Parts: sequence; structure tokens; C-alpha cells
Amino acid sequence: MRIELENLEGGKGSFTHVYEPEDLNPVDERIRLIEPVVVKGNVRLARTEVFVNGQIDTRAQVECDRCLQPVELPVIAAFDLEYITGRDYESSETAELTDAELSVSVFDGEAIDVDEIVKEQILLAVPTRMLCREDCKGICPECGIDRNTGECTCVTNDIDPRWAALKKLS
Ligand SMILES: [Zn+2]
Ligand SMILES: [Zn+2]
Repeated sequence: MRIELENLEGGKGSFTHVYEPEDLNPVDERIRLIEPVVVKGNVRLARTEVFVNGQIDTRAQVECDRCLQPVELPVIAAFDLEYITGRDYESSETAELTDAELSVSVFDGEAIDVDEIVKEQILLAVPTRMLCREDCKGICPECGIDRNTGECTCVTNDIDPRWAALKKLS
């Protein structure tokens, strides 16, 4: 969904959109949406900037970092973004960049791409490391068994790699 700025009455407006999971999947190689994404927000035009704020709400599935089993999590995020056109960005480059200005995005001056915002917010909201549970035992590096559901007789798994090297020497 794109918000055409020339259609905004009085330079502001609000939007609500529901994306089906398949509209956005896969968000990236590790994140899959399992419920629709509800996005709500407001757009406001200023002299040279466009301000967009709102929130997203959905559920996603990722792999456990240790055992690779699917883990589901709610994804709820609020965003507060600022856009300027490429032309305005260039003319402001001589000015000293503050932290606030670094969060500014450049756009074409005609429309705000809500799909992009939603994808970016999901990527930001899902932690880069997820465990199915705090004490997940992971997968045996020797035989590949899921140690949460089974046991194996491999003995070398937990040997510190430095000791493993010594063991090879003897
Ligand atoms: Zn796990
Ligand atoms: Zn094993």
C-alpha cells in the first residue's frame, strides 16, 4: 500500500490496513508471518518533511537458535518516522547531522510506501536470537539428534574444543 501525498486532505490523514501473511512472506530467510498484520497510522505533511507514526500487530514464526524447532512470537511495534525528499536531503547535507536526523528516510516526494515500513518494523521487532525455551538443549553436533526430545550416546559433544585438540595429539 502506498499513501499518495497529494490525496491527503489538509496535509494529514490516517490509515489502517490488514496484510494477509502471504502478502509479505517470507519477510526474510528466518521470519515467517503466521497471522495477518494490522497496521494503523497517521501521516502529517510539514514544510519539507513527512511524519508517519503508527503501530503494527501480528504473530511470526522463527526457528529456535539451538534446536531449529519453530518458535512463535507476537510482533507488536510502534514506529515514528520522518521522511524528506532526496532533494531536501542533499541540501541539508552541509548541515551537521544530529542523531535525530540520522533516522530520517529519503523518499520520492510523492508517496509513502507502507509495505516497506511494515517489513522494516517486523525485522526490527523480532530478536535476532530466539530460543524455544530458556534451557533448550539444542542439537547434538555429532549425530544431529534433538536433545530436548531424545538422548544419544555421543560422548565428545561437550568437550571443550581446546581439549579435543589435545586429545587428538595423544
Ligand atoms: Zn530449541
Ligand atoms: Zn549425539
